[in-house]
Amino acid sequence: MTSSESAASRPELAPDTIVVETGRPNRADGASVNPAIDLSSTFISTGDIESSPFAYARFDTPAWSHFEEALAKLEHAELPGLVFGSGLAAISAVISAVPAGGTLIIPTHSYQGALASAAQIAERQGFELVTVDIADTAAVTAALDAAAEKGSAASAPGSGADRPAAGGSESGTASGLLWIESPTNPMLEVADVPALIAAAKQRGILVAVDNTFATPLLQTPLDLGADIVVHSVTKYLAGHSDVVLGAALTSSGELRQRMHTERSMRGSVAGPFEVWLALRGLRTLAVRLDRAQANAQTIAERLAAHPAVIETRYPGLPDDPGHDRAAAQMNGFGAIIAFTVDTADRATSIAEAVKLWTPATSLGGVESLIERRRRHPEEPQTVPEGLIRLSVGIENVDDLWTDLEAALG
Ligand SMILES: *Cc1c(COP(=O)(O)O)cnc(C)c1O
Repeated sequence: MTSSESAASRPELAPDTIVVETGRPNRADGASVNPAIDLSSTFISTGDIESSPFAYARFDTPAWSHFEEALAKLEHAELPGLVFGSGLAAISAVISAVPAGGTLIIPTHSYQGALASAAQIAERQGFELVTVDIADTAAVTAALDAAAEKGSAASAPGSGADRPAAGGSESGTASGLLWIESPTNPMLEVADVPALIAAAKQRGILVAVDNTFATPLLQTPLDLGADIVVHSVTKYLAGHSDVVLGAALTSSGELRQRMHTERSMRGSVAGPFEVWLALRGLRTLAVRLDRAQANAQTIAERLAAHPAVIETRYPGLPDDPGHDRAAAQMNGFGAIIAFTVDTADRATSIAEAVKLWTPATSLGGVESLIERRRRHPEEPQTVPEGLIRLSVGIENVDDLWTDLEAALG
């Protein structure tokens, strides 16, 4: 038994309290304040193995339970989350649900690992991959229309042309999946998340949202009708660049079962210590994000005014193309900034010249990271050569700016 049961009698708590209080052992005299790291690979079970809460640690283990429960509470999922060995493992488990002949609609500027994995699974499984500008609601709606039409044409005759045959979260047999990332990586485009989810639902198309950039503190897509939320826990949730971990959340028993089976069958499981570290990191998510966002706002404003910078993308800038949407649908603007300088060489030299910022890929840790994205050969060609992505951390903002300004030269 964990804290959710005792919390049930308390008034609803704010998310910045939930990150601290949730996922703890039951309150009892002498009990640990934090869960133990349960390393057992097998558990005592007799008779029907299905009826044992724990039997073998590839299926489920108490090492995951507290964190899975905490994530569900934060993302407003009615069922416990599912941790995976990495964010990409969670993403692959979701994408694998798209059947042959179906359609996956995915943002052109998704996390490149998600794009690469989607392309591979699409080819293997025989479904269509459609990339869209996720900020262009009309374009996404047109892609949804095409996917729904194809789904109904492919369905059994007599299923009724007036009913979306792609199925919904209830049937769990959708032939279409809309993948949403907002803000996108690394272009910081902001999708109209409520409108896109509503449009997909209308057409019986499943929706999954990669909520890594926003975290559940800034947006909770399940509240808007999304079927699945995924996270690279590696980033903000764990928050210290010392864990690789993923998670998926849903309120649908059927979808959860399918992802659970995928996790068990592929063995894409998380280590007990990694999960423990992630829960430890989660405790400070609210204060880390507060500070990182405040720093990001200041740095984005200073970058936007700097003569060497051609463009700064940060939803917190009042004239950013995504500002109004982000202000309407998020509780904050996050702490990732993209800015562009004139050439790839200039961008590379900036990433080499910084002394406080760490030149490294990844994001969401306490330390500030800087990276020219096109150094990754697989990054979409539409990302400018001179684009630098910043993951703003929690250091002193003037120290960060002094270092970056010197590197901008
Ligand atoms: C890093 C990242 C992933 C992949 O997660 P891993 O934990 O590295 O496997 C997926 N989506 C987004 C938005 C990311 O930033």
